[in-house]
Amino acid sequence: MLREKIGNTALHKHTELSARYGVNIFIKEEYHNPGKSAKDRVALFMMEEAIKQNRLPKGGTFVEASSGNTGISVAMIAKEMGYKSKIFVSQSCSQEKIEVLESYGAEVVVCENSNGLHDFQSTQYLAQAYAANTEDAYFTNQYYNSSNIRAHYKTTGPEIWNQTAGKVSHVLIGMGTGGTISGVGRYLKEMNPSIKVFGVEPNNSVYQHFLIQQKLPEMEVKFDSIEGIGRTFIPGSFDVNTVDRVFQVSLEASKEMAHEFALEFNQLLGYSSAAVLAALDKHIGAMDLKPTDNLVLLFPDYGDRYLEKLYKDFYWISKAKVARKDATIQ
Ligand code: PMP
Repeated sequence: MLREKIGNTALHKHTELSARYGVNIFIKEEYHNPGKSAKDRVALFMMEEAIKQNRLPKGGTFVEASSGNTGISVAMIAKEMGYKSKIFVSQSCSQEKIEVLESYGAEVVVCENSNGLHDFQSTQYLAQAYAANTEDAYFTNQYYNSSNIRAHYKTTGPEIWNQTAGKVSHVLIGMGTGGTISGVGRYLKEMNPSIKVFGVEPNNSVYQHFLIQQKLPEMEVKFDSIEGIGRTFIPGSFDVNTVDRVFQVSLEASKEMAHEFALEFNQLLGYSSAAVLAALDKHIGAMDLKPTDNLVLLFPDYGDRYLEKLYKDFYWISKAKVARKDATIQ
């Protein structure tokens, strides 16, 4: 059963990064979930709740608006449970993710943006409209579904607490729907209110502004497109009371960090994981960390979902491409 394989992901101390930044650094490796991202947890909670409440008959269609990962988790679980899936992704979704979605039998609709329910071209508006006008279709709606925060409150948060034997002092987590940081943050602060919960978003996303000013920016925003993180609105899946600070990073710094990490540690980071590490690198001075602190970085997915976008120019990949081309010629 797939559901038993979801969650309980590894958490490892990264000794080299710990030495470099002078603090104990642990990585919560969410790409070990069966759907290869943290979003398996959320999809499972949302779908089981919908089924429990008789929202969708067997064989019906789960509909979701997603940067890709939630969609993949919904499609995978739907397939296992005997349902169909229809996933609305924005133009920024990587080709690799679209292909995985289709492999799980999802029908994929590519939309202009993911700017929330008020924008007629957005994934959320179109997904909601489709579900409302279609028989036997249910919109899981991760941006406003309380199961999003609950999944992380019930699973990811307790796992981090237990895996660090209650010694976690700081977490640094990317913010998209805000569900991960809100669920993890709520749980950890209940266990120990002095734990600091730090968020990461791309430059010009609205969470940092909202946290400081308690309102949205007056001007329309366009944030750097780092897949999975960043927002132009504050979704219902974000609990502002769980977050102490939000740090912003650029697309370029995240990309550079991904390449540096690959060269040094032979691992391909997901885009938002690279952003988390880039935020640590840029803002560590503002994080007020002591050598005895235990900082957990959450890595939601892996770099093989971003080969084209993030690693195309990277020497491993381009070298492999040349080798493949030569092999065909011979
Ligand atoms: N990184 C990636 C790759 C994601 O897919 C997501 C989910 N959109 C996030 C980070 C952010 O997680 P959350 O939606 O819980 O804020």
